[in-house]
Amino acid sequence: MEDKLIEYLVKLVNIPSVIGNEKQIADFVEGFARSLGYSYVRHNNSLIVYKNENRLTDYKKTVGLLGHLDTVPGENDFNGKIIDDKVYGLGASDMKSGLAVMMALMEMFKDKDSRYDLVFIFYEKEEGPYEENGLEPLLDYPLVKNLDFVFALEPTDNTVQVGCLGTLHASIVFEGKRAHSARPWQGENAIHKASDFLKRLSNYGFREYEFEGVKYIEVMNATMVDFSGGRNIIPDKFVINVNYRFSPGKTIEQAKKDIFELVNGDAKVEFTDLCPSGKVCLDNPVLVDFLKKFELPVEPKQAWTDVARLSVHGIDAVNFGPGLPSQAHQKNEYVPIGNVVKNFKIFDKFFS
Ligand SMILES: [Zn+2]
Repeated sequence: MEDKLIEYLVKLVNIPSVIGNEKQIADFVEGFARSLGYSYVRHNNSLIVYKNENRLTDYKKTVGLLGHLDTVPGENDFNGKIIDDKVYGLGASDMKSGLAVMMALMEMFKDKDSRYDLVFIFYEKEEGPYEENGLEPLLDYPLVKNLDFVFALEPTDNTVQVGCLGTLHASIVFEGKRAHSARPWQGENAIHKASDFLKRLSNYGFREYEFEGVKYIEVMNATMVDFSGGRNIIPDKFVINVNYRFSPGKTIEQAKKDIFELVNGDAKVEFTDLCPSGKVCLDNPVLVDFLKKFELPVEPKQAWTDVARLSVHGIDAVNFGPGLPSQAHQKNEYVPIGNVVKNFKIFDKFFS
């Protein structure tokens, strides 16, 4: 199976699937599922794959394995090549190695009984905006809605990454009064008005926030500015985009409060994008079982992932995948073969 695992990975990286162009890779996975005799639901370019009897079993817990089919746009000079026990290709780490593991598991458990009922979810448009994400419509299907636990095979270098930070964007709007810059006393400078706030923001630093025994780092940063005015004009409007990454255990309402606190009434606040944090689900029986069987490092997930989307729908999930997080979205992305084999073996053993 190890040879096949790598063969699938090479096939997957040889199918371009930059976000928005997932049809070909979805067709490939669909054909694979059909050839193995699995049942599946196709929703646009996303697939929910399961064994027929899965729908009937109620004495076993159902575990989902989750992977996105798309990649970011990028360059790879060695696409599909194996060099020094590494498979190169766009998406090799993020996250076609995870998809290859899922395919090999499908094959492995085609006729073999598994301790949990398995549902394989391949979906489109992960690398884009929150609202267009291909996982969202799949959450209407009972097969997905009723999952007891989900492993997302995003790149984690075979560590178990729990929870994930939420993220929000806020426009902090400072208003002044327009005037000629030679006579500033006739106006009110909106940029200058932001100085106290910017000082507080730059002093915010990295804040450690411990939740359920896992330490997350909260950060708040100005990432863009906008203004109305010109070289010789006292600006009457200055807008700072603030991106806040907040810890699991905090609701969006609490995160909003943190922003208001820092603004301290100095400006208007408009929230433009709100993504919740992911639940830390260390008490989920499937995860308890998993961590008991394998001595794997448990780490916080510092970035936002679809684990949070599942949390919103009441589904517990963690990230556990073979790819290297440091290789995600890199030029000449690769994944070490050893990582892919290890990830597959752990899942194989766990489900057997
Ligand atoms: Zn990814």
